[in-house]
Amino acid sequence: MRTITLHDTRTGQVRPLEPHDPGQLGLYVCGPTVYGRIHVGNARPFVVFSLLNRFLVHEGYRTRFVTNITDVNDKIYAAAGQRPGGSQRLAQEMTAAYVADTDRLGLGRPDDEPRASEYIGVIIELIERLVERGHAYPVSGDVYFQVREYPQYGEISHRDVNQMDQGEGVEGAELKRDPLDFALWKAHKPAEDTWWDSPWGPGRPGWHIECSAMAEALLGLEFDIHGGGSDLVFPHHENEAAQTFAGRGRPLARLWVHNGMVRLQEAKMAKSEGNIFLLHEALDRWGRDPLIMYFVSGHYRQPVDFDEERMEQAAASVRRIREAARRLTPDSSPAWSAPLREAFFDALANDFNTPRALATAFEWVSQANRSSEPVGGRDLREMLGVLALENLLEAEQVTVPAPARELAARRADARAAGDWAQADRIREELRSQGWEVRDGPGGPELLPLT
Ligand SMILES: [Zn+2]
Repeated sequence: MRTITLHDTRTGQVRPLEPHDPGQLGLYVCGPTVYGRIHVGNARPFVVFSLLNRFLVHEGYRTRFVTNITDVNDKIYAAAGQRPGGSQRLAQEMTAAYVADTDRLGLGRPDDEPRASEYIGVIIELIERLVERGHAYPVSGDVYFQVREYPQYGEISHRDVNQMDQGEGVEGAELKRDPLDFALWKAHKPAEDTWWDSPWGPGRPGWHIECSAMAEALLGLEFDIHGGGSDLVFPHHENEAAQTFAGRGRPLARLWVHNGMVRLQEAKMAKSEGNIFLLHEALDRWGRDPLIMYFVSGHYRQPVDFDEERMEQAAASVRRIREAARRLTPDSSPAWSAPLREAFFDALANDFNTPRALATAFEWVSQANRSSEPVGGRDLREMLGVLALENLLEAEQVTVPAPARELAARRADARAAGDWAQADRIREELRSQGWEVRDGPGGPELLPLT
């Protein structure tokens, strides 16, 4: 087995993955709070950790990959407002939308997708333990974690305790012993339409404790990889780590791995495209292959811009592989392939460097393109499979529907008449129907927008 390393936020180092149970790995990744449709930024951790999980399975590990769904949260109460069916219906609808949107990425589903509302019992048990051990205190139906009584606080985010803000605003401020304390349980408020009984009265859990309890329930303590977006390092993951260690005397996770943010570049998007930052809109506009290509083109830890230009580059990369695929045969691999295959998987083993791996895959494609003979594509298929892009090697059976063919003919007429504006308008119309016109030497050709 290759040594696999990942950057660990807690120690600030790239560290070897040393499974707690040999041959097995537990991964927990913080998923969405379901109060609206998810955007492209929310999709990044789903893509990064789904692909990391694929790679770990490829390397021979048995994995259990858990991504939670936060369906009890202030944001959901606020978004539901007076809607019929209230916060529960909104959370159910948005959970279904999240599953449908992420299904379209074609990455499969995590092994478990626990919902906070189904784990209230284990959440209460963990809070009780924290109260018993003197790390938390109930007051007026709320329960708060005492941050200053926990000396390791700050070990994940490396912030100075005195510079921290839990982001809870004025809520509960008069009840906290210290402004730094954060809520584990919140007493029921009249405006909230869901609540559960607890030893402290009716109420509902705080956000951070949900993850500590669900992760432990499904993966046990000291599981291997805890992941999420870098916006969760503080306070969410700092608090998860503190709650579990304070309550159990053992760490929650061994490696804390964070992906960089997606910067949604509004100014660099065509205005007519609607809210292209929502994942389902982006999938309608570009298709899943360019989106996956876009995500693997950047290193998971780096922030990345999401704009028209980058998506065009990703679509071009997809086309490059599709074009090369026409010359490949399914069996075997040429002799020059083995070192490239090794370099590809080594790049992934080294802090999951997908851009370096991808560069190796393109080197492979260039080699194949230089060959005058058909080339066996088995290695390339294996490489692309780990990036969930093996479908680019499938032969395409494209049938252009009649309305698109008609439009293409009208565009050819417009061009012949020198009406370039009209030809451009028709090109755009074809794009909106999912077709790209390419004016090749043999006349115009319609290619599906991938
Ligand atoms: Zn979480």
